[in-house]
Amino acid sequence: MKKSLQGIAVLACAALLATPALAEDTVIHAGHLLDRPGKAPRGASTLLVRDGRISAVKAGFLEPAALGAAGARVVDLRERFVLPGLIDCHVHLESDTGGVAGLVEDLTLSDAAIAYNTLANGRKTLQAGFTTVRNLGDGTGATLALRDAVATGLVDGPRIVDAGRSISTTSGHMDAWLGLREELHESISHDNVCDGVESCRRAVRLQVGRGVDLIKIATTGGVNSRIGTGLGAQAFEDEVRALVDTAHLYGKKVAVHAHGADGIRLALAAGADSIEHGTLLGEEEIRLFLKNKAYYVPTLSTVNGYIERLAANPDAYSPEVKAKIEWRIGVTGKSLQAAYPRGVKIAFGTDAGVSKHGRNADEFELMVKNGMPAAEAIVAATVNAAELLGLGAEIGSLEPGKRADLVAVEGDPLEDVTVLKKMAWVMKDGRQIGL
Ligand SMILES: [Zn+2]
Repeated sequence: MKKSLQGIAVLACAALLATPALAEDTVIHAGHLLDRPGKAPRGASTLLVRDGRISAVKAGFLEPAALGAAGARVVDLRERFVLPGLIDCHVHLESDTGGVAGLVEDLTLSDAAIAYNTLANGRKTLQAGFTTVRNLGDGTGATLALRDAVATGLVDGPRIVDAGRSISTTSGHMDAWLGLREELHESISHDNVCDGVESCRRAVRLQVGRGVDLIKIATTGGVNSRIGTGLGAQAFEDEVRALVDTAHLYGKKVAVHAHGADGIRLALAAGADSIEHGTLLGEEEIRLFLKNKAYYVPTLSTVNGYIERLAANPDAYSPEVKAKIEWRIGVTGKSLQAAYPRGVKIAFGTDAGVSKHGRNADEFELMVKNGMPAAEAIVAATVNAAELLGLGAEIGSLEPGKRADLVAVEGDPLEDVTVLKKMAWVMKDGRQIGL
């Protein structure tokens, strides 16, 4: 009985990974090709795409018949630079309103309206060349539903790896009651906050039951949480261990929101798979990253969101949030400057939702400004991100057998990473995406 149930689970997962509506054979002529980020790019190249996957990568411009694909559609990208579809490891597709306006939206929009916004934001993200995203926190379940709708080919969108609802302790970063009058609490679900070991195990199990791919937790306060308790640790060691161990029990990775060094340390000591933001990294935290081979996801783009929103409206945030934003703007990038040269593994993540959807590639420019070579920033958004998502065998490079997720740009992103801000052409699972 047990065995057959596991069989059903495997079948369900296979359905999620299924490629929708297989496209015709496609032959792509690429002027320059970065098929394996981290290695040198190739010059003129030909790729054969069959059944949604890369079937062959050859030097020079070959005709379809030479690849055993007579009659295949030919895509001329001889004047373009082609690379793997990009991966953003930290987004929130359901919204990018933010600040006080975001709170109003939370209190007024129906889940159905949020679902449409999620769909539209997913499309923008895909058109920006991000063919896969990891969604780290959505209280409505809209992104989880979009994940499945995209996987079955019902709608266009990026491949989504979803964390469901983010978890924190009571009055922690993920507590949706913060800043609201108490009479409203009753109407807002609180099943993502936990205190003590049993409660934290249960909070993870609830997300597992909803079908999430990974677990997102917070060990410290957050810039956007509507409370002035700072950005240090807000969970005890046993709580963090209970959260991480329970997720790992079900084979789910754990992404941890953490700003203060104490909370980063707690998370890494408990076995966190990635640290998000990681604003105050010290020597001990870097040592733990290296020891555990955990990923650092810098989310530098958040400052763009803050700066733009405050420029449009100085009262876009409540005073307690604004104080934290000013601090964050001042220190952003320092942790990446410290961690990258030491060999900490970096995965690309924007926190889009705080910054604008569709502008995910702005993060590349900030990564380079903070000490990463363009080539390494691209590795962070392809090979490294794929590994962090547990999809290293499927995406992140263009090799026979892998998903045909490709993008093309004008200019050489290894020379000028900002050319990634404008996509010339996008393909996901072998299907060309309308831009
Ligand atoms: Zn986030």
